[in-house]
Amino acid sequence: IDYTLETPVGLRSFEARSRALGVPVRGRPAVVVVARDITDRLAHEAELRIAAQAFEAQQGLVISDANTRILRVNRTFCRITGYQPHEVIGRNAQGLVSGTHDDALQESIWQALREHDGWQGEVWNRRKNGALFPARLTISVVRSKAGDITHYVESLEDLTQSTQAEREIHSLAFYDHLTALPNRRLLTERLETTMNALARTQEHGALLFIDLDDFKKINDLHNHHNGDLILQQVAQRLRSLAEPDHTAARFGADEFVILMAHLGSDPDEATHSVERVADSILERLQVPFTLENRQYRTITASIGIVLFRAHQPPAKDVILQADLAMNEAKQRGKNRWHFFDPAVQKRVTQRLQLEEALKRGIDQQQFMLHYQPQVNAQHEVIGAEALARWPQAPEGAASPGIFISVAERAGLMPALGKVLLEQVCVQLAAWQHVPTMRHLRIAINLSVSQLFQPSFVSDLLETLQRTGAPSNRLVLEITESILLNDLDEAHHTLSTLGAHGIRFSVDDFGTGYSSLAYLQRLPLSELKIDRSFITDLQHAPNNQAIVETIVALASALRLEVVAEGVESVDQVQLLQARGCMLFQGYLFAKAMPPKQLETWVEHRQLQPVHAKPA
Ligand code: C2E
Ligand code: CA
Ligand code: CA
Repeated sequence: IDYTLETPVGLRSFEARSRALGVPVRGRPAVVVVARDITDRLAHEAELRIAAQAFEAQQGLVISDANTRILRVNRTFCRITGYQPHEVIGRNAQGLVSGTHDDALQESIWQALREHDGWQGEVWNRRKNGALFPARLTISVVRSKAGDITHYVESLEDLTQSTQAEREIHSLAFYDHLTALPNRRLLTERLETTMNALARTQEHGALLFIDLDDFKKINDLHNHHNGDLILQQVAQRLRSLAEPDHTAARFGADEFVILMAHLGSDPDEATHSVERVADSILERLQVPFTLENRQYRTITASIGIVLFRAHQPPAKDVILQADLAMNEAKQRGKNRWHFFDPAVQKRVTQRLQLEEALKRGIDQQQFMLHYQPQVNAQHEVIGAEALARWPQAPEGAASPGIFISVAERAGLMPALGKVLLEQVCVQLAAWQHVPTMRHLRIAINLSVSQLFQPSFVSDLLETLQRTGAPSNRLVLEITESILLNDLDEAHHTLSTLGAHGIRFSVDDFGTGYSSLAYLQRLPLSELKIDRSFITDLQHAPNNQAIVETIVALASALRLEVVAEGVESVDQVQLLQARGCMLFQGYLFAKAMPPKQLETWVEHRQLQPVHAKPA
């Protein structure tokens, strides 16, 4: 017998058993009733029934254990995917659900599960018959009281059937209706995804916050319809500028964002790439926009830039910082970009100033060559290396290591290199009239971009002819990286010049990519052992072995070997013992102006051979 009784603790249900007692109590037949309160059990059973009902819902459901092994699936799941329960139970849910997705997505799902115990998004899924279908996937984590993950519940909604209207609602949620660019929400999601992806690759990403200058004025002057036309055209231009893995988004009324990923691990390279994009945005906006009735006008924008890595700064700060930087760009006069990080901005500004100074310097002939002597085993001067000097260099940029690489990146090296080649030829020609100098070979460094200028060969030959410099006294120092570019073209250039007596030396040898193939194939005459192997030759048996190998290689290929950066007598002895017979370094002399080199050479010749080096 079951009872429901009103009790002091509320309405309770009881399950009761009764038995006749057999003996009368107070003269009446009696029964004993044993009742158990089953209120809680009934509630639990009802819950289970509801749960079972719910489990057979409209959505496919997958329950898996802490190791994502599938424990249970519902009928809808089977209907959607075409699998029978026994075909999937025991399999790994990860492979089955969202199995077609990239690592970045998997990673961001896992991160969301760790941090928020849940994830929701749209994924491509595969049916048993192999067909892909779009699905909305929701994953929730079930934890024990102790907080350990015990289960995952995944619900899968097949979106194939969703109507066009629903699709449009989705696109409304993620795309801006005026420009069809991703909206703020989708951008924020992509920023998160990008940051997660960068966590693995250690690369940089960047966010450019673009705000059109004086857009309100344009709207007032030309009416809103024209304002919209401009926004659409801006969107189009930004989209065409963005690489496939960039996102161009509309952030607000006249605010746009470009999100760039995979900018490499070198911060300077990354800064450079972003600058180029920012420059081209400003440039593209200079092209007139078409308004109603074939009116035209140009606009400008201010751009704030944040460079980021994995989670530095956190995603939520990136947009804020870019916005702040954009405001700074406005305050500095609009139609420009500005980096949020003051250190980055400072470096960039300095580099831009340096580029300007370089251009001026080239025009005004501010560059000159100093010459560092090279000696043989008898310590006789056999030649010199010409090294660029820039007396008027802006502060901090006097070292050629700096200004040459900036010139290289700014595309100024062909021009600067030409000026320097001209100078070295004039000097070589002049030294033909100085008996102590006429036999010296003069080396000059060539940068990658110089050698591959189409007019390089003809320019150089013309310069030699015009100045009267003997081409068989000229040595061109190239680096191994030149040879990586295009072996055929390098071969052609070197052979042509080689036929005129010009010689080639491989600079910084041992630091780059070397292959016997090119060493053999190219008309080279010398290897210069990089300074890094010489610096602590005494204490690095490794380096001694490298020197020996380079010397052996050179002798097999009939090339000369020069050691650069020689600073001590010990080094000379070690080098000589290993067969290297030409030296250049501070032990003998630093680079000096040409007149001073003449005196230095003259003075040296007065000293007895084998005299201890100065
Ligand atoms: P590099 O061609 O390897 O030049 C050798 C560098 O080592 C020179 O520095 C030289 O002054 C320095 N050096 C020479 N002997 C010693 C020594 O015993 N100890 C030490 N610590 N250093 C020594 P510099 O003049 O500062 O030039 C740096 C780099 O700039 C050059 O390296 C070269 O790559 C580039 N460079 C210089 N002039 C030119 C040029 O006219 N054209 C091109 N394309 N690059 C140039
Ligand atoms: Ca050199
Ligand atoms: Ca070198």
